[in-house]
Amino acid sequence: MVRVRFAPSPTGPLHIGGVRTALYNYLFARQNGGKMILRIEDTDQTRFVPGAEQYIIDALDWLGIQFDEGVHLGGPFGPYRQSDRKPLYRQYADQLLRDGWAYYAFDKPEALDAKRKEYEAQKKTFQYDCTTRGTMENSLSLGMEEAQRRIDAGESYVVRFMFPDNIDITVHDLIRGDVTMNSRLLDDKVLFKSDGMPTYHLANIVDDHLMEISHVIRGEEWLPSAPLHVMLYKAFGWEETMPQFAHLPLLLKPEGNGKLSKRDGDRLGFPVFPLEWHDPKSGEVSSGYREQGYLPQAVVNMLALLGWHPGTGQELMTMDELTKLFDISHISKNGAKFSLDKAKWFQHEYFQQLSDEEVASMLEQQVAAHGIQADHGYAMQVAALMKERITFPSELWDTCCYFFQAPTEYDPAAIKKRWKAGMTVHMAKVIEILNTVPFEYDAIHQALLEDYIKGNELNMGSVMNSLRLAVVGKTVGPDMLTLVMMLGKDETIRRVQRAIDTIGEVENQ
Ligand code: GLU
Repeated sequence: MVRVRFAPSPTGPLHIGGVRTALYNYLFARQNGGKMILRIEDTDQTRFVPGAEQYIIDALDWLGIQFDEGVHLGGPFGPYRQSDRKPLYRQYADQLLRDGWAYYAFDKPEALDAKRKEYEAQKKTFQYDCTTRGTMENSLSLGMEEAQRRIDAGESYVVRFMFPDNIDITVHDLIRGDVTMNSRLLDDKVLFKSDGMPTYHLANIVDDHLMEISHVIRGEEWLPSAPLHVMLYKAFGWEETMPQFAHLPLLLKPEGNGKLSKRDGDRLGFPVFPLEWHDPKSGEVSSGYREQGYLPQAVVNMLALLGWHPGTGQELMTMDELTKLFDISHISKNGAKFSLDKAKWFQHEYFQQLSDEEVASMLEQQVAAHGIQADHGYAMQVAALMKERITFPSELWDTCCYFFQAPTEYDPAAIKKRWKAGMTVHMAKVIEILNTVPFEYDAIHQALLEDYIKGNELNMGSVMNSLRLAVVGKTVGPDMLTLVMMLGKDETIRRVQRAIDTIGEVENQ
C-alpha cells in the first residue's frame, strides 16, 4: 500500500518548491492507488506563524492537490498535527536512551557558543559528534548517576542521538541511488528538548512509522538529514518497514545559480507563492499566482515539469495525464531552473482551453466595472475572437475595450504613419460604402478593398490602418472587416465620422 505524506512546517506561506513536493507526492499516490496525507510539523513553536496552516490547505486545494487524510480531514492515523501528538513522542526518546542510541546533554547555550568560537579561532567548525561528545557535559561524560541527579534537580537538558563512531551509513534514494556518509561527518542531532517537545527529526520518523508511510518524497535540502533518519529506523528496530526515500532537485533561480527565493520573485516580478500572502507580523504582502490570474492547471503543469519530464517531449498535461505519466525514475538529479517565460507560456496555453462562456463572463465583469452593460451574446463573440491574444484575465479589458466603447483619442504615431493627405476623403468613402452596399462581409470587402482601394491604386496599408485607427484608436485588433461586422454599421460610421472630425485633413508629411 502506497502511503505518502506532505509534511510542511507552518512557518509562513508555502513556496512553489513546496507545492511541487506536494504535487509529486500527490501524483505518486494517485498513480499507485495510494493515500496522500497532510501532516503539519509544528514542533518548533518559535517558528510558528498564525495562518500558515490554513494557507497551505487553501493553496493546495486551489491547485487541485487533494488529500485522503490530514489535519483538515482527520483519518485513522490522526491526529495529524504534531503539536497535538506531543504526549506520544517522549516514550520513543526514552526507548532510544534505554537502548543506548541516545544520551542526555546539559550543555548551556553559552557553553556551546564558546566551543564554537574556540573552534572558529582555529579555523575549524565545531560539531557535537562522536569525536567531541566526550568533552561536553552529557550523560556519557558525566555518568548516568550524575545525569539523573541533574535531571531530578530540574536542570534543563536535551536528548541527543548517538551516532556510532566511524561507520558508513547508506541511504538508498530513488532518484540518486545510494548515498553514503560516514558517521564522523554527522552531528549528534537533538531529538528531544526539555520543554517536552520532540525536534523535527524524532517527530518526523516516529510519525512516518506510525502513519505507515511507504515513500518519503521531499526536497533535496533534507538529504543531509537522511542518514540520521535511516539510523533512527535502525535504532528503533523499524528497518523492515522503513519508507523509501526520494529527494527532489532544488528549484533554481532563472539564471540557474542558487535556490529560487522570494527575493528573486520580487526582483524579476513573478510570484514564488501560490496564493497572495499577508504577513501577520510585518503586514507585508507577497504576490500569489492565483491573484495574478494564473490558472491552477497552468501552475500545476508548469511545476510538474520543473525537475521531471515524461521522456516524450510532451509538455501539456492535465492532472490526469500527469498521474498516468509521472515516474520517479524520470526525476532529474540536477536543479531545475524556474522560467517566467515558460510559466506564461503554460498560462497562455491553458487560457486558450477555457470555454468562450468562461472568458466571456470574465470579460463581462471587467466591462461592467467600466460602467458598461455588455450583451452576453456579443461578449461571447468577442471572447471567441480575442481569446488567442490573451494570457492573463487582467488583459481582457485593455485588449477588448474598443468592442465596447469608441476611442476617445487616436495614437499620434499611427496618425503620423498612416493618416496621409486625402485620408478624410477616403474615410468619407468608407462611410458612403457602408451606407450603400449590403452590410455583409463579402460585399464590403468587394466594394472597399477591391473596387475602391485596389481599383484606384491606393495604398492598402494606409487606408485600412487609418480605418483601424478611426475605429480602434490605435493600429491593433483583429481582422478589420470582422471588427466592422461586430460593431455594426451605425457604430462604425459614427467612429469613422468622429475620426474625420477630430483628426481632420493633414498635409503629406
Ligand atoms: N517539516 C519538513 C518541512 O518543512 C518536512 C520534511 C520532510 O518531508 O521530511 O519541509
